[in-house]
Amino acid sequence: MNAEKRIRRVVVAGGGTAGWMTAAALSKLLGKNLDICLVESESIGTVGVGEATIPTLQLFHQLLGIDEREVMAYTNATFKLGIAFENWKDVDHSYIHSFGTAGKDCWACNFSHFWVKGLRNGISHDIGDYCLEHFASRQGRFQVAPRQERNHAYHLDATLYAKYLRELAEKYGAMRIEGKIEDVQLDHHNGHIKALKLDSGKLLEGDLFIDCSGFRGLLIDKALHTGYEDWGHWLPCDRAVAVQTGKAAKPMPYTRSIARESGWQWRIPLQSRSGNGLVFCSHYMDDNDARKQLLGNIEGEPINEPRVIPFRTGTRRQHWNKNCIAVGLSSGFIEPLESTSIHLIQRSIIRLLTVFPSNGIFQVDINEFNRMVRDETENVRDFVILHYKLTDRQDSEFWRYCRGMDIPDSLAHRMEMFEKSGRVYKYGEELFGETSWLQVMLGQGLMPRTYHPIVDMMSDEELSRFLASIRNYVRQKVDSWPDHMEFINRYCKAN
Ligand code: FAD
Repeated sequence: MNAEKRIRRVVVAGGGTAGWMTAAALSKLLGKNLDICLVESESIGTVGVGEATIPTLQLFHQLLGIDEREVMAYTNATFKLGIAFENWKDVDHSYIHSFGTAGKDCWACNFSHFWVKGLRNGISHDIGDYCLEHFASRQGRFQVAPRQERNHAYHLDATLYAKYLRELAEKYGAMRIEGKIEDVQLDHHNGHIKALKLDSGKLLEGDLFIDCSGFRGLLIDKALHTGYEDWGHWLPCDRAVAVQTGKAAKPMPYTRSIARESGWQWRIPLQSRSGNGLVFCSHYMDDNDARKQLLGNIEGEPINEPRVIPFRTGTRRQHWNKNCIAVGLSSGFIEPLESTSIHLIQRSIIRLLTVFPSNGIFQVDINEFNRMVRDETENVRDFVILHYKLTDRQDSEFWRYCRGMDIPDSLAHRMEMFEKSGRVYKYGEELFGETSWLQVMLGQGLMPRTYHPIVDMMSDEELSRFLASIRNYVRQKVDSWPDHMEFINRYCKAN
């Protein structure tokens, strides 16, 4: 396919986090030569969740010239240094997947090989004791690191974040239209989208359409029938119930993920309130029981009605099809265990900006875009499956299913390599690198059988001094940091 036509009119369908992130980035970075129009419907609203992020969001903010202090104050944000996984390996066991790196790597292997030998010698402590971000999470302390070393993310109010981005997008010239999309009109010549018909009767014509309509996938699926690959057999949770409570007594700089009988519960502390939700599998638990379980496990009183959100884990067969690119929930969904959706939105936007088809839409660009999105999404998928598969829990049908389920070959390969050699690799542009795989594999109880021979070049005494020096450094450094909320009150107190 070769559609050589200058692309000038960009229509963004939907104004949730995905829609406004897209409109803000396009208008700020390429807006001079584009007409950008976003249509959204207040009566339909947004999914209204999506409050935990990962550190890559800082890159997006840098690109858009967004000031961290300003956006944090606007969105009632707190800092996030990682995720605490409670009851995942087993009931009453917990570990943290932090955004930092444990210890110091050497040219031949990473720090975990030294740590594993130390464990055998009885001198290693929790792996998190050797990582600043991990230790700071547990202590509830925070300090902004020098720019190059920043490994923090945010907990933020998703509705306010979309509002903030809307202001930015409109400032850079994006136009917003309130209306309900009733029909998607196709060009019968090449199957491209020609226009969106709104409930007012207005026709919104465009050259390129960005589908940010959420789970509905109005353009990419309802109109273009792109199809969906279901990953429910690997990630069986398919619903969530969400509710907000008041401000936490002591908002910690990490997200809590607490495994429950048929799923898991999140707790996300904002400056103004807390977000809570239970992600569960409808095959093992119904909505009523899920609601009861969630309300029985929150701190304080709910401040809104609990809301059930059904979802289907998987991915679009193509993320870019003809003149339509799906961004956000319309492109697929991997449940929120590792807070990766906003990151995947950001990646799709940056890819679109780098290959922007101003001189026409070429199949070769479409194929490359789809390949990159696919690779990255599969990496995230495998990483999330790992948490479910590597469990010792056998106390419910749900966990027995997860323990026994088949997994993708790509994940089986990583697990086997780690168990046999202690090695983990990051391939290409994958999001999760060695340090993330390590923390979760160890945290879920997969221990390497051996370590790299270079470790034995150190005497036991040297190893002991090496481990102790890192641990002491981490303690001293974190002890000098302020309390998380004390820091926020000085740095980015909500308006
Ligand atoms: P939506 O928010 O659903 O927005 C869709 C937009 O399309 C709305 O503006 C709507 O009005 C518009 N629209 C739809 N139909 C029409 C129509 N006919 N006419 C006009 N407009 C229309 N992500 C994270 O990164 N971190 C998290 O912690 C996290 N937690 C999550 C928890 C749950 C339970 C779920 C389900 C998701 C979570 N996510 C999380 C994902 C995150 O919420 C989404 O990626 C993000 O909100 C983007 O959503 P969206 O903009 O694609 O869709």
